[in-house]
Amino acid sequence: MTTYTIISPTTGKPVQELHLADIFETDVIIEKANRAFQSWRLVSPGDRATLLRRFAAIVEEHNEELAQLEVLNSGHTIGNARWEAGNVANVLNYYSAAPERLFGRQIPVPNGIDITFKEPLGVIGIIVPWNFPMPIAGWGFGPALAAGNTVVLKPAEVTPLTAIRLGELALEAGIPEGVFNVIPGKGSIVGERFVTHPAVRKIVFTGSTEVGKHIMQGCANQVKRLTLELGGKSANVIFDDADLEKAAAGAPGAVFDNAGQDCCARSRILVQRSVFDRFMELFEVAVKAFRVEDPALDTAEMGPLITAAHLARVKEYVPSDAPIAFQGSVPAGDGFWFPPTVLMPKSTEDRAYREEVFGPVVSVMAFEDEADAIRLANDSEFGLSGSIWSRDIGRAVRVSRGIEAGNLSVNSNSSVRYWTPFGGYKQSGLGRELGPDALDAFTETKNVFFDTQI
Ligand code: NAP
Ligand code: MG
Repeated sequence: MTTYTIISPTTGKPVQELHLADIFETDVIIEKANRAFQSWRLVSPGDRATLLRRFAAIVEEHNEELAQLEVLNSGHTIGNARWEAGNVANVLNYYSAAPERLFGRQIPVPNGIDITFKEPLGVIGIIVPWNFPMPIAGWGFGPALAAGNTVVLKPAEVTPLTAIRLGELALEAGIPEGVFNVIPGKGSIVGERFVTHPAVRKIVFTGSTEVGKHIMQGCANQVKRLTLELGGKSANVIFDDADLEKAAAGAPGAVFDNAGQDCCARSRILVQRSVFDRFMELFEVAVKAFRVEDPALDTAEMGPLITAAHLARVKEYVPSDAPIAFQGSVPAGDGFWFPPTVLMPKSTEDRAYREEVFGPVVSVMAFEDEADAIRLANDSEFGLSGSIWSRDIGRAVRVSRGIEAGNLSVNSNSSVRYWTPFGGYKQSGLGRELGPDALDAFTETKNVFFDTQI
C-alpha cells in the first residue's frame, strides 16, 4: 500500500498520512463512474439542476472549513482560500442553470426536420495541479456534471485534502454515489490510467506544458477529447500615459499572489522607457509593503511555496549574480519561504525572463513604443494572460488585439471570472473553460434528420 505524508508548507511539518490509489483501485472507480453515467444522464434536467444547487449550497456552508484546509495543505493565504472555496460554489451555481438550458437546434432542411442534441460524453477524467486545488477542480466538475457526465478527479499528490472534502460534500448534497469520484494518487499511475482507460472519454488537464504534451500524445491513441490549461509567462504592459500609481500598486499582486504559483502570473513587466525610472520607484515601495507572513493571518498577502523541492527550483532562477533590482522580505522560521524578487535582466534570453518560474520572481524590461511592446509581449512560447495599462482607449484596444493571449485585462490585473471564457494561446493550452460555452467542451453534438416524405 502506498501512502503519502502531507507536509505543511508554512511549517515544513507533517500534517497527515494519506493512502494513494493504485491502478486496480483506479480501474474499479472508473468502472463505477461508468455505471453511474448510465443513470445520471437520465436524471431529468430539473432534478440535476436542483442537485447541483444543493451541492453549491453545502460548499458555501463549508466555506470556512474548506478554506482552513487549503491554508493547512497548500499554504494559501486565508483571504485567497476563502475566495477559492467561494469560487467552487459560484461555478456550481452558474452551471446549475445549464441542464435546463442545454439547447440543441432545429435546422431548416429539405424533405424533413433536422434536430441537434447536446449529449454527455461519459466519464470525464479531471487532473488537477497543486497551485489552485479547489477552483481548477470546480471549473472541470461543475460543467461536466451539469452536462450529464460523471467525473473521476485526481488532485495533485501534494494537495488532495480539499478535493477529498468536496467529494464528501457532493454525497451529502445528494449527488448519487459514483457520479463524482475523487481519487488521490500519483500522476504517473492514476493520471496515466485516465488517459489509457477506454471508459474515460475526455481528459481535462491543468498543469505543466511538459506533462500536457505527454497527455496529448496518449489521448491520440483513442482520439480522446482533451482540454489543456498549461503554463504562462504573461506580460504586464505599462504605457507612459497610464495611471502609474495604480499600475505600480497593483503589480506586486499581479505576480506575487499565491507566491507566484499562478499560471496567470504577470511575471514579465514591460514598461515604456520614458516612465521606467518613475515606475520602478513606485514599484519598489509597493513590493516592500507586500505582506509576506503566516498565511493564516487575515493580513497576509503572500505565503510560502508549496514544497521544499519547488523552493529549490525557484532558487535556481536567482543565482548569486542575478540582476536583482530589489527584494521583499520573508518571515523567520521554518517553511518554504522565498522573498518577492524583482529582476532587471539585460537580455530577453535571460532564463528567468523566458521561462515560467512559478514562484515570486518578476523580470522588468523597458520598451520604446506600441509596436515594441506588442513584439516583446508576444516573444514567448506561452500566451495565457496579461495586462495593459493606458488611458488611451484606442491604444488599449489595439494592444489587446495585438497580444497573442487568451485572457487580457485593461487597467486591471484580474484574469478569472466564472462568467467568461478562460484558456491559452500557443503552448498555454487547448480549448477554453468557464463562461457560457464551457458546456460545448463536455458534450457531443448529435444531428438527427427526420424524413417527412413517407
Ligand atoms: P504537473 O506536474 O504537470 O502536474 C499536474 C497534474 O498532473 C498533477 O495532478 C500531477 O500528478 C499530474 N501528472 C503528472 N504526471 C502525469 C502523467 N504522466 N499523466 C497524468 N497526470 C500526470 O504540474 P504541477 O507541477 O502540479 O503544476 C505546475 C504547473 O502547472 C505550472 O507549469 C503551471 O503553469 C501549470 N498550471 C497551469 C494552469 C492553467 O490554468 N493554465 C493552472 C495551474 C497550473 P502528481 O501530483 O502526482 O504529480
Ligand atoms: Mg509536477
